Amino acid sequence: MIKYNLKCENNHEFESWFADSKEFEKLNSRKLLECIFCNSKKISKTIMAPMVSISNNKHNNEFQINEYELNREKQKLLKLRNYIEKNFEYVGKDFSKKVREIFYDKKNKKTIYGIASNEERDELREEGIDLLSIPWVDKDN
Ligand SMILES: [Zn+2]
Repeated sequence: MIKYNLKCENNHEFESWFADSKEFEKLNSRKLLECIFCNSKKISKTIMAPMVSISNNKHNNEFQINEYELNREKQKLLKLRNYIEKNFEYVGKDFSKKVREIFYDKKNKKTIYGIASNEERDELREEGIDLLSIPWVDKDN
């Protein structure tokens, strides 16, 4: 079961339970959902993803990300992850060592990815090696 915050075209907000997100889409596309206040059938989902609590100011909606956007961002990150896994060589914790080898060996054009600690990253940056840090999303959820 999943609880959605729903909103009608007249901005009435109410909550409803569904078996899953597909059930919501199905009912909504068949116009089987209606506002409990005004019976409007133009219902949209306003579910809010877990988010960082920034302030107690309830009028500050700027930082709310809806589920759809969140999923889209996640898909982008997944694509990025897949791309890196396909095209880059994984070197794990040897990353800072390997990245130096490549940096100082001009003929070496290998692209790698791996794990670097914050200190390692600072050291590399001082040597002029800039790293890109990428949010690594889980594939299986
Ligand atoms: Zn309504």
